[in-house]
Amino acid sequence: MHWPRRIEFKLKANKMDLRRIGEFGLIHRIRKWTDASGPDLIQGIGDDVAVVEMGSKALLVTTDILIEGIHFHPSWMDPYSLGRKSLAVNLSDIASMGGIPKYYLVSIGLPKNLPLSFISSFYRGLKQEAKRFRVQLVGGDTSLSQKIIVNICLLGEGEKKNLLFRKGARVGDDLFVSGKLGDAALGLKLLQKKSKIKGSEGLIKKHLFPCPRVELGQALARDHVATAMIDVSDGLLIDTSHLIEESGVGALIWEDRIPLSRLYRKWVRSFLKDPFQFALSGGEDYELLFTASSDRREEMTSLTRMFKIPITRIGKILPKNEGFRLIKKDGKEDLPSPLGFEHFK
Ligand code: ADP
Ligand code: MG
Repeated sequence: MHWPRRIEFKLKANKMDLRRIGEFGLIHRIRKWTDASGPDLIQGIGDDVAVVEMGSKALLVTTDILIEGIHFHPSWMDPYSLGRKSLAVNLSDIASMGGIPKYYLVSIGLPKNLPLSFISSFYRGLKQEAKRFRVQLVGGDTSLSQKIIVNICLLGEGEKKNLLFRKGARVGDDLFVSGKLGDAALGLKLLQKKSKIKGSEGLIKKHLFPCPRVELGQALARDHVATAMIDVSDGLLIDTSHLIEESGVGALIWEDRIPLSRLYRKWVRSFLKDPFQFALSGGEDYELLFTASSDRREEMTSLTRMFKIPITRIGKILPKNEGFRLIKKDGKEDLPSPLGFEHFK
């Protein structure tokens, strides 16, 4: 088609592609375009899980996709690990609400020359993870595809009155994170570089086998120990920004309080100038990031002991007009850009 020259120019000038708005800008628009509401809908787009009222209980629904070449590469991710991880990342979203995972469906897109043994190992991994968290496979879909694609939809339930959302943080609350941060991103670097450094296997394991904090999430929700919660999938800073945005507050994080593992400290300088970069923005930690009133600090110590999972106070919630602040180790304030991983950017 031949456009008049002036219209052609206008089309080019208006060309808005996904690089400009990024993944989160796109989700924001989808949320506005679709604008779902209903008497039973407790939470639609905007949290880790969709929540639908079912009497005194709530149905929890979440979905995540893993694509070859984007989320994993068969040269460094074996099918068994892929199976476990694809379920684990969904379990982590249910954990972030304090919910109980129950049933899942798995849809797979596969190239026709893929050996059957790849798929049987993938299902072995799925089954292993499912057994550990007592969830059951109840369906899915299968299609031909150029690349390997895995999409899981996980269903769960929760007590309506206990669930924790991204919204809910209050000014003055403490900000906590479970576990240690940055190991998975460092593990990915090692896998991609095919570096077989003796003694660094623990980091690779953290990338391949994230440990969804399902029981801890439930404990934090049970007596409303926490006020708001999200899981750290895209990176500490970007996921904090999601939590404070939904809560309508600001936040401050002290960099030197961020929990780092011994292995991370040992190996990070071989890959990074700023040793905090992976812990702040690396992503795929699948730890819980949550807020709680400052009079609940003692409970964090007992939860740490009970679950043998470190819980670290890394910051606090500020009024919205004070924004999002990162106090660096040297005392200066500096928020990196971008904050973390975002598709299309
Ligand atoms: P998470 O990292 O916890 O999986 P995401 O950042 O992927 O969360 O998604 C944020 C919110 O946007 C969630 O409520 C999710 O269901 C919703 N969402 C993501 N992609 C789409 C989409 N293509 N259409 C509708 N909702 C979406
Ligand atoms: Mg999440």
